[in-house]
Amino acid sequence: MKEADDLWGKEHPVKLSFHGADQGVTGSCHMVECAGKRVLIDCGLYQGGRELAELNSQPFGFDPASIDYVLLTHAHLDHCGRLPLLAKRGFHGEIITTAPSRELARLVMLDAAHLQEEDARYRARIAQRGSSTGQPIAPLYSELDALNCFDHFGRTAVYDEPIEVAAGARATFINAGHILGSASIYLQLTEGSRQTTVLFSGDLGNYGGPLLHDPAKPPAAANVVMETTYGDRLHKPLGSSVEEFYDAVTDTFKRGGNVVVPTFALERAQELLYFISQGINQGRLTKSTQVFVDSPMAISATEIMQRHLEELQPEIATLIREGHDPFHFPGLRFTRENAESVAINSIHGGAIIMAGAGMCTGGRVRHHLQHNLGREDSSVVFVGYAAIGTLARHIIDGAKEVNIFGDNIAVRARIYTINGFSAHADQANLLAWQKQTGAKGTFLVHGEKDTMTKFAAHLTDTCVEMPEPHQIFEL
Ligand SMILES: [Zn+2]
Repeated sequence: MKEADDLWGKEHPVKLSFHGADQGVTGSCHMVECAGKRVLIDCGLYQGGRELAELNSQPFGFDPASIDYVLLTHAHLDHCGRLPLLAKRGFHGEIITTAPSRELARLVMLDAAHLQEEDARYRARIAQRGSSTGQPIAPLYSELDALNCFDHFGRTAVYDEPIEVAAGARATFINAGHILGSASIYLQLTEGSRQTTVLFSGDLGNYGGPLLHDPAKPPAAANVVMETTYGDRLHKPLGSSVEEFYDAVTDTFKRGGNVVVPTFALERAQELLYFISQGINQGRLTKSTQVFVDSPMAISATEIMQRHLEELQPEIATLIREGHDPFHFPGLRFTRENAESVAINSIHGGAIIMAGAGMCTGGRVRHHLQHNLGREDSSVVFVGYAAIGTLARHIIDGAKEVNIFGDNIAVRARIYTINGFSAHADQANLLAWQKQTGAKGTFLVHGEKDTMTKFAAHLTDTCVEMPEPHQIFEL
């Protein structure tokens, strides 16, 4: 019957399906099928406890070789982190994204491959010590896989300029104000005589930040697929968050301890440096404040930011163009080498240490937590989102003891969570964004189920879906 329909030219519906960040915050991956093409929007890594991490090695829910295009909203790991795996498993289509996202994704994917190789070696050593005679432990993908994936990056998207992705699928990238190069993606789809539009929010930025532009006004769309990270709460104003941060630093230094800030390397680090530098100039922080940015990725991300001044607020761009560095002050040290990172451990007080990963799932921050979490005089300041199951979330939720590198460490340091620095829109901004689109169909993704449910209760005049993994909808 199906073949007969095809013979008579029966039109197929446009299909929208969901393969990650479904009732969860990480692993973003959505698919549109239209005019005989398959287009993925993002292909991110699941991040969290082991259980979530295991999802990464599971089948995608579609054949990677059948994907024609990937449109990448931005370079955060939970949006681009499964791209090397997609390529390793047979994808040979084209990846389209903005110029800054392409540069940042390269950095993020290589770093992820490196961490996975390290993790695999660590688990292999543990297995060897035990009696395990099981399968060799392989990383999800290697640095070579990440390098191979770069060959698939094709056309470069420019904000607000439509791209004919394929016949019947036109994409427009719109500034999402979340991190450098981040975009919402507006798809105009034609299937026979049928036309529809879908707007993918990507991650929407917070408004009024010092570095990036605010998210652009979204176009009208029949359907939206939107993030709901902070769909259940309002952020404190940025100004009071900055004050809270200065107070946390001053207080900790008085006690004689260090301040550890687990931070996402992309943009968050630069924003904090900007505020610290301002705090020193305004006398809110002492001139001798020592700051270590212990993240090779943050160092490279700062360089990439300086290559894309058009993405920055005009005042900041002008400062940089005139040769001033708005992120610099005398006590700032960037540490790239391992030995330099280890040397930070000998500093007993009076330092701000910024290191990734923001959710403490890996990276150098775990070493600094190992040295400072057990100290009553030190503090840990969380400035970004922490997904369920991550070390950051355990600490934020009040764990009395955590395990780092096999050591049980009592949590004695003072813990701060300052959400006003968030790179994500809050509930009010998300609701306003959705309303501006006028969408009749709203698909909620990239949020915890409880958060989504609370957000959905505020949506009116639209049909709301909270897709399950691999659920398919006809548009
Ligand atoms: Zn993001």
